[in-house]
Amino acid sequence: MTGRFRRLFVGSNLKMYKTNRQTLDYLVQLQQLTRDIPRAELTLFILPSYTALADVCRASDPDLIWIGAQNMHWEEQGQFTGEVSPPMLREIGVRLVMAGHAERRQLFGEQDWMVNRRVLSSLEHGFHTLLCVGDTAEDVRAGVSQDHLRTQLETALLNVCCEHLDRLWVAYEPVWAIGEQGIAAKAEFANEMHAVMRQVLVDLFPQKNGDIPILYGGSVSLENAADLICQPQIDGLFIGRAAWDAENYNRILRRVL
Ligand code: PEP
Repeated sequence: MTGRFRRLFVGSNLKMYKTNRQTLDYLVQLQQLTRDIPRAELTLFILPSYTALADVCRASDPDLIWIGAQNMHWEEQGQFTGEVSPPMLREIGVRLVMAGHAERRQLFGEQDWMVNRRVLSSLEHGFHTLLCVGDTAEDVRAGVSQDHLRTQLETALLNVCCEHLDRLWVAYEPVWAIGEQGIAAKAEFANEMHAVMRQVLVDLFPQKNGDIPILYGGSVSLENAADLICQPQIDGLFIGRAAWDAENYNRILRRVL
């Protein structure tokens, strides 16, 4: 079983923040600030809101930054009011699709089977796919965090084809760690959970030998980023609030390179 993936992954979920104009300004600033950082071993990405995606895809330099969607319906078209389909995202140049973010699960009733449909569809449509899983505070109290992570991974990755695995990334985002009320996981604890998740991935896909990047997300900041990224099982950082200011995002990046 391998430890650190050879490439570093750092991304930000912009959630329901920033209008189209604000996202474009942020993108331009982020690209300028980080232009000098070699991308040979770094994948940098942002996930803007749907309304900003088309313009941001057009304005971005794909060698500098990947643009992803925060969610996607699994069907190609249909009577699914308010949803966005794979061909819609493909056409505008989206490269990455996230599935199963904790806020989707908690606030919008997203269940493991739905996350599985999104993951399968995203991979089948050629997107890189970021699957988010995480334990809750109740899981921690009951001592079932590891079981919960195993179930989430096994269900979300049911029927994924081996030939699609090169486009799969996973994020460990403890529900108790993300957002304004969150408390970041201790680096050693996060590392332990990543090791558990990597073992599940090895069990599911032995041919990959654990070679699927696992990012940590949840109250990542300028203060804790270096500590987290030093951990052998943490392949990247998935950042919310601390990366919504391009200058702070750039500072975090330079701390972890
Ligand atoms: C998130 O919600 O995915 C996240 C990582 O948020 P934050 O960094 O703000 O805790």
